Amino acid sequence: MPTYIVMLGPPGVGKGTQAKVLASQLELPHISSGDIFRENLKDGTEMGKLAQTYMSKGELVPDDVTIAMIRERFERPDCKNGAILDGFPRTPAQAVALDKMLAVFGGKVNMVPFIMAPDEVLIERLTGRWTCRASGHIFHEKFNQPRQAGKCDIDGSELYQREDDKVETVVKRIQVYLQQTTPLIEFYKSQGTLVEINGAQPIDEVSAQLLSFLNK
Ligand code: ADP
Ligand code: ADP
Repeated sequence: MPTYIVMLGPPGVGKGTQAKVLASQLELPHISSGDIFRENLKDGTEMGKLAQTYMSKGELVPDDVTIAMIRERFERPDCKNGAILDGFPRTPAQAVALDKMLAVFGGKVNMVPFIMAPDEVLIERLTGRWTCRASGHIFHEKFNQPRQAGKCDIDGSELYQREDDKVETVVKRIQVYLQQTTPLIEFYKSQGTLVEINGAQPIDEVSAQLLSFLNK
């Protein structure tokens, strides 16, 4: 049976960081909708340019564009055994579309780790985040420092601060999360897949809690 895991939680709580841990433990692809939009922007595609008009304001890219992009990603064969989804779904319409897409492979969403932390923790994490230019590896200037400042430990590429990680955009993104994404908590609770994880602990402790749920 394929295993599909949806990382749920506010911006900055550690979804990407933990998705990478799960992806390597379970040997499944890590699918980050934000990373795919940023890759498209880097490659200069029309979709990338369109997405950027929303991303720079901290707003969500429209559902039709986002769902089509994820559907295309799922058409690649590496998703047949499962995937770790990070940043998708973010609206009820996306969650319904995801269930339909997975049904095509005989799959479903198996587990939804819902990671939580107070707003001040999220703001400190996002404003101190450094992201790798080549493949989106994630560091923090205090909590997860690269061995060499400004350089990715994994692939040596340049680290940069995302434009949408400045404080004004971060506050907007948290509001958008509260308005548009929190309905998914009830959606997955009613499907019986939600597990609550305390995100306000060190990275390794969050990973340990996640892996213990996974082994159950
Ligand atoms: P998200 O994908 O939910 O937006 P990230 O995984 O990108 O979150 O993490 C946001 C920032 O916080 C990054 O700089 C990351 O290194 C850092 N971080 C992630 N998890 C923790 C944690 N448990 N404790 C401290 N810092 C963390
Ligand atoms: P974070 O790491 O803070 O959770 P992401 O990299 O996941 O941020 O997302 C960055 C931006 O990309 C979002 O603010 C939004 O504009 C866009 N985006 C990413 N995923 C989605 C989605 N599922 N639906 C709509 N917009 C999205």
